[in-house]
Amino acid sequence: MSLKFKCPNCGTPLGYEGLCWKCQAEQNRREVLAWTPEQIAEKQQFILQNIRALEEMEDPELTTFWSLLSCHDAITPEIQRKALAEKVFFPAELYYHAPADVRDGIISLLLDAAGANEAANLMSCLAMQGDDKALETLLELEQHPRPWRKKLYVDPSVYAQCGGWTFDKEGRRTTLNFDTCYPMVKGTRHETSPVRIGRIREDSCPHCGGKMVDMLVLDGRDERLRFLGIDGILTAACCPNCVGFLQGPAFNRFTLDGGVEIFPSKLYDEEEKMDCYIRPEDYAALHENSLVLGAASVPLFYGTACEDVNTIGGFANWVQDWEYSTCPHCGKPMKYLAQIQWDTVLDGTEGTLYIEVCPDCQIASMQHQQT
Ligand SMILES: [Zn+2]
Ligand SMILES: [Zn+2]
Ligand SMILES: [Zn+2]
Repeated sequence: MSLKFKCPNCGTPLGYEGLCWKCQAEQNRREVLAWTPEQIAEKQQFILQNIRALEEMEDPELTTFWSLLSCHDAITPEIQRKALAEKVFFPAELYYHAPADVRDGIISLLLDAAGANEAANLMSCLAMQGDDKALETLLELEQHPRPWRKKLYVDPSVYAQCGGWTFDKEGRRTTLNFDTCYPMVKGTRHETSPVRIGRIREDSCPHCGGKMVDMLVLDGRDERLRFLGIDGILTAACCPNCVGFLQGPAFNRFTLDGGVEIFPSKLYDEEEKMDCYIRPEDYAALHENSLVLGAASVPLFYGTACEDVNTIGGFANWVQDWEYSTCPHCGKPMKYLAQIQWDTVLDGTEGTLYIEVCPDCQIASMQHQQT
């Protein structure tokens, strides 16, 4: 395909006339963010009247749903009640923090569920609802598995994770997501930011010889980042070329004064060497990216259902299933911290880097997913 056109906004060479996909996505989001209260009410009515279309993944319904949730946090109990009445259980996010009557409806359907798919969907919805009674029910199902459990890969406590929490054998809750979310936005030249993405390091990767990169450097002492409870600097470092080819996540320990100790890693296919596909100009572009921490917090699901937004806190846009790393030091599940969409910092690359943290052990994990 010849690239005879250019994105009028950012100058990216294109094979067609119009905006590049990133500028298009940004424009769409700006329009959604500008919805007036009347427009939001109108969209909510639209979803109420067409709720079944969500389960069929039809548009414009599905896109409207994600716009209401991610940009306006505007999924009402009325919508949740309607979804339950119509037995619509996708997307599970419909039921995030749903009221008690809706929760009880999901629970009674789940306890009567015969099929594994049905049970899996209902567990995800209940995980999104997420209160103590939801925990009690999932715990009960974990302790006394129903026949459908054999057909599922994981336990109810792993389904709970999709709602940003889980529980141990005694039913003690662990929160896996932060309850605040900030976006990364394009900054002006030399603008300072308590969060930096993509700082090239001095050391090289033992697998490919490419440069190691501090993918995320964050100063938890900034007022906006107090919700993280990190009283200093968090650094998450990996090889951007190899992180998708490792056995398990990449890990490092960090010290609050900015220190990093990278843990040894193994390549997935046991090969000793990888080719490095990142060119010097790509490293330079990564290092010089203009992303800075946004001034104001956004809804928790702001970074879900899109491929062009990097976020700190909130919920991730998992390309595959949600995946919480286990801390290699204490064995507890790590907390989801941030997502970095590769294409926002390395042009033309695919997938997402998910960064998690064990605040107790000061260990960061990084894992890659793509379609
Ligand atoms: Zn563009
Ligand atoms: Zn490497
Ligand atoms: Zn730990």
